[in-house]
Amino acid sequence: RPSYDVVIVGGGAAGITTAAELRRHRPALSVAIIEPSETHAYQPGWTLVGAGVFTLRQTIRQESSLIPPGVTWLRAAAAAFQPEANAVELADGRHVGYRFLVVCPGLQLDWDKVAGLREALGKNGVCSNYSAESVEYTWQCVQALRGGTALFTQPPMPIKCAGAPQKIMYLTADHLRGHGRLKDTKIEFCLAGDVLFGVPFFVPPLQKTVDRYGIAVNYKWNLKAVDGPARKAIFATTGADGSTTEVVRDFDMLHVTPPQSAPDFIKRSPLANPGGWVEVDAATLRHTRFDNVFALGDAAGTTNTKTAAAVRLQAPVVVRNLLAAADRRDPASAYDGYGSCPLTTGYGEVVLAEFGYGGKVMPSFPLDPRVPRRSAWLLKTKFLPMLYWRFMLRGSEIDIRHKERSFAA
Ligand code: FAD
Repeated sequence: RPSYDVVIVGGGAAGITTAAELRRHRPALSVAIIEPSETHAYQPGWTLVGAGVFTLRQTIRQESSLIPPGVTWLRAAAAAFQPEANAVELADGRHVGYRFLVVCPGLQLDWDKVAGLREALGKNGVCSNYSAESVEYTWQCVQALRGGTALFTQPPMPIKCAGAPQKIMYLTADHLRGHGRLKDTKIEFCLAGDVLFGVPFFVPPLQKTVDRYGIAVNYKWNLKAVDGPARKAIFATTGADGSTTEVVRDFDMLHVTPPQSAPDFIKRSPLANPGGWVEVDAATLRHTRFDNVFALGDAAGTTNTKTAAAVRLQAPVVVRNLLAAADRRDPASAYDGYGSCPLTTGYGEVVLAEFGYGGKVMPSFPLDPRVPRRSAWLLKTKFLPMLYWRFMLRGSEIDIRHKERSFAA
């Protein structure tokens, strides 16, 4: 079987970044990426595709153009892990050996957990920014809305980019306002959880945004089924006494954020924690049971917000700790849980939510991050995509956070 110093499972944001940084630090190592997809998408841009600011094309590149020079690309899906034998089994039955394994296949969108959703998606006003196939339809739905009811759903956590379900809602509301249609539209945010945002510090500016657009928020509403042709969404709602009731809502537009979980092949592997995610130490990102295994990105069993911003700070930690292990030193680099969610509260304004483990607020700039800002919009629409393509995926370890990061909460 072929064998490499480092095998990376998943050539997305995390896999490409890790491979590029490894090449920079230790070009002598043989590195292989296992990745079945021919293309890679800058998913943070999909909020803007759904809102007509970016085209889908702008967010997609050929995988071949991103695999760092000198890194072997194995165009296949990983299917199983044999960590005791230091081997990964591919879907086509081949085996690949490694000295070190980095696991980062992202997370899985569980469309089928909502009955009828897969068939409903992409027509009759049912859209989602969470898939390349349906994100352009979101913008069509936003433009076509002439009043009525627009529903935005959010499943139980964790999901990738926890703020994304409401980002598109605010942009839709702002678009309707600009066209004089907001007053004729009832917008409802139907979320499975019981808070507007997981970090309390950022709830007041978001609540203000909700109030500004006149959005109704339905807590503990979990989308269970969709009937596209009848334009009906069925929710399981939980009352104060814990009892569940079914609620049916008619809609003109339904933006769905699908339920999400660890990829099935991770869930059933020896690498998984009880929740199905890769079981790693929260600081070192090293597997808690297999010393030569690391994980990062959406698949990692850490409590940070699952974002590309988190990956940017995780990759240097994984690389330093992996190289330390290769040199028989202890892993000394620690990840602080940083993640970022630029919340588009309207066209031209963003609340830049940046936080680490335990909801610790970690702003990059010495400004009150609760204030929606035009500068943060420019960061989201111009600077961050450039940072991603030109620097992060090419292995430049960039931490744009200013050194004094404590902010009086
Ligand atoms: P991915 O980039 O998804 O890559 C995973 C890779 O693994 C894929 O290429 C996939 O093909 C591959 N793979 C899957 N299964 C296998 C297998 N069996 N074998 C081998 N390879 C496999 N982040 C931000 O920082 N800011 C934002 O504003 C933001 N907004 C978002 C908005 C939306 C709508 C969405 C969907 C995401 C958003 N994100 C945002 C989240 C961000 O895109 C992800 O957190 C990031 O891409 C995670 O990187 P990853 O490498 O773990 O996963």
